[in-house]
Amino acid sequence: MRVYEFAKEKDISSKEVLDVLEKGGYKLASHMSVVPEEGVVYLKKAFSAKKEKPVSSVKKAVVVEKKIEDKKIEIKQEKPVVKTFESARPRRFNRFEKKEIKQISIEQPMPLFEVAKKMGKSDGDLIYVLLKSGSACNRNFVLPVETIKTLGLSFGIQVDVLDTSGSVEKFLSTSANGITRWPIVVVMGHVDHGKTTLLDYLRNKNVAEKEKGGITQHLGAYEVDSKHGKIVFLDTPGHEAFSYLRSRGSRVTDIAILIVAAEDGVKPQTVEAIKHAKDSGVPIIVAINKIDKLSKTELASALQNVYRELADNNVLVEDWGGEVISIPISAQTGAGVNELLEMIVLQSEMLDLKADPKAPAQAFVLESNLEKGLGPVATVICLEGTLKRGDYFSCGNSTGKVRVLINSAGDRINQAGPAVPVTVVGFDNFAEMGGWLGNVAL
Ligand code: GDP
Ligand code: MG
Repeated sequence: MRVYEFAKEKDISSKEVLDVLEKGGYKLASHMSVVPEEGVVYLKKAFSAKKEKPVSSVKKAVVVEKKIEDKKIEIKQEKPVVKTFESARPRRFNRFEKKEIKQISIEQPMPLFEVAKKMGKSDGDLIYVLLKSGSACNRNFVLPVETIKTLGLSFGIQVDVLDTSGSVEKFLSTSANGITRWPIVVVMGHVDHGKTTLLDYLRNKNVAEKEKGGITQHLGAYEVDSKHGKIVFLDTPGHEAFSYLRSRGSRVTDIAILIVAAEDGVKPQTVEAIKHAKDSGVPIIVAINKIDKLSKTELASALQNVYRELADNNVLVEDWGGEVISIPISAQTGAGVNELLEMIVLQSEMLDLKADPKAPAQAFVLESNLEKGLGPVATVICLEGTLKRGDYFSCGNSTGKVRVLINSAGDRINQAGPAVPVTVVGFDNFAEMGGWLGNVAL
């Protein structure tokens, strides 16, 4: 029995099963690993001993979200108390221990209200200064280091920057309170091996049909429903795209689907794709495509051929004693595609993908273009936080206010949380592809 099969039976995540196994002295590599017989006995014992049925990670996310909702109501009720406590303290501080702040140290971009606190000023003081210099911000705007320095100058405060290297990555990793987010997946492979056909199949619509319609003609990413939850597919135009997805030190993709046509096997761009995925540490799931074109016996030998060629490139699939999952599919008929989606979800469970919807929005720009009547628009995906209508944002050299948000189904939505691909209308200038957007300036 495999780890994930046991997990499925008990309705828990594979990770939980692996953790319990490890405690019992069984160290297994992944959810696909086969649990030895004694291990299964041990597991059954361990899980029947637990009184409460463990909650699967997907369910946990729901519970957490629910808790947040509950809390919201609680906070609402307690608000007056919290407010007096929070706002009274700094005031008292200012009144009795007022001292001029001459120097502050910062490490990375910070929300305006935190900068204000550090500088001993009110949010309004800072907003006013920024407004005079032409930028409209609210207190949640994350100010870039340069802006904080400029603010310091106008208040006579010296701003020391401790370390700004890799600030984005650092910034992204600081968020606590993460909840499970959808996996973000990219499909790569040699030309004509079926990337577009697979993406089209998943989208359930053809590109030609889509291109007739307005703004959603090419979102650059879209949500796909699977039995176990949503998966976000990035519709990247080619391998070069992968390098901008990796730009500024942050990984936007969680899993790479390597598509290989069964009849053709590994080709130069397949090798290139493997290199890209390995260089950025993104796990690979192999989809062996076009199985509808081969007879059963042809397929068996074609599969062995592909496995061998993959092994030559250091991708060892399970059948060859490795850990890489490989699924035979037909992007045309849809055979095996559901299994592929299931494997993606399982793999993402193992990656334990988390994001904090309450953090300041930090979104990656996937695409940017000019839309008639709407001005510059961009497709972005939040890796942290939630982008809401009405938010002010900055994005490289552009700033703006979120006027409209459109999801991959073409619907207007009011907010987009982590991993939700969304088109943003409201830029005053072109957004840079591969850049970052936030309510927030990164
Ligand atoms: P891409 O270059 O990787 O995007 O490849 P495409 O998706 O454009 O596919 C190239 C050709 O292979 C097209 O003619 C597709 O119709 C065909 N094709 C893709 N997947 C399958 C499949 O599963 N079965 C069959 N029979 N043909 C396929
Ligand atoms: Mg294509």
